[in-house]
Order: sequence, then structure tokens, then C-alpha cells
Amino acid sequence: MELVFASQNQNKLREIASLMPKGIFLKGLDEFIFKDELPETGDTLEKNALQKARFVFEKTNKICFADDTGLEIEALNGKPGVYSARYAGEQKNANDNMEKVLSELKSNTLRKARFRTVIAFCDGKKEYLFEGIVEGEILEETRGEKGFGYDPIFMPDGFSKSFAQMSLEEKNTVSHRARALRKFVEFIENNF
Ligand code: IMP
Repeated sequence: MELVFASQNQNKLREIASLMPKGIFLKGLDEFIFKDELPETGDTLEKNALQKARFVFEKTNKICFADDTGLEIEALNGKPGVYSARYAGEQKNANDNMEKVLSELKSNTLRKARFRTVIAFCDGKKEYLFEGIVEGEILEETRGEKGFGYDPIFMPDGFSKSFAQMSLEEKNTVSHRARALRKFVEFIENNF
């Protein structure tokens, strides 16, 4: 079965491809000839994931799914949340985003945070949503070189290292995206 993943992010495509069971053939957007920026104008992860999945289905006419993720920090009332990618500005720079979070939390001892991923599936007839959450805390400084985004400042509960200090396989054992994706894959296996 062929599934289009509605994302231009090669890191995510790699992560997701590594979790797909045999028989599911994952296609990224680079295989299609359209250059439009994916729309992401919603004020929730759910709205954005659905918006991207619908948009790509309309463009490709293929069964597809999209994900949207936010880092929700308790002491910042859930921020950066749906605005995680551009928290420090439209340049969407991961280092600037982490710096902004670290400076906002500077003297705060409440470091609790979670990553939340929502996956939206669209086959032209029906739409479904799947959620994955990993709880953890924001470190006081960056640690590690792997991964992407906020990985160097996020330490998941039960570990003594950041996501950026983990191999992809280790990150996948607990990550928000892996958890949402496992629910999604189970749905695909049971329904297609
Ligand atoms: P997206 O909308 O799913 O691309 O995610 C929004 C932003 O959240 C990204 O630009 C990253 O900054 C951040 N993000 C998403 N997933 C991860 C992750 O697994 N680790 C670290 N940061 C992430």
C-alpha cells in the first residue's frame, strides 16, 4: 500500500519511514511536482494536521497523512505549542527557538514539558486523528548533537539524557511521534 506523508521535513520522513511496517510504501512530498508551502494557519495541532493532510490529498489524490507537533511547557502555559517551529521568528531557526525557551525559563525551577504529536489521516472519504505524548523536562542548557528542533533541551521522563543524545532507535521507544504513529499504523493494518 502506498501512503503519502505530507511533509517537506526530511528528518521526520526518515524517522517515520523507520517505523513503518513492511507492505506500507511511504512517499514524501519531494516525489510530487508541487512547490506550494503547506498551509499551517490553524491555532491547534489538530487543525494544522488536518489542514495539511487535506491540502496534500487535493494535490495528489492519494491516501495521505500529516503530522503536527508542539512542545508544551507547563511554566509557559503550554507555549510554544502550535507555534513551536517559529517561536523565535519566521526564520524557523531551531537554535533561536531553544535560546528563547531557555531565557524565558531561566530562573524557573518548574521545568515540566511535553511533546505532543497529532497525526491526521485523509483518504478522500474520511478523516481520522491520532495523538502521541511524551512527558519530560526542559534542561538548563543544550545537550547532544543528534535529532532536530528542541531535542537538545528536552529530556524525557525515565532518562538521564536529552533526545539529542539518543540514537533514532532509542528516541523512537518513547517519542511523541512514534507513539502517535504506532496508533496510526495499527489503524492502517486493521482497516486497509
Ligand atoms: P511540526 O509542525 O510537526 O514540524 O513541528 C513543529 C516544530 O516542533 C518543529 O519545527 C520543531 O521545532 C519541533 N519539533 C517537532 N518534532 C520534534 C522532535 O521530535 N524533537 C524536537 N523538536 C521537534
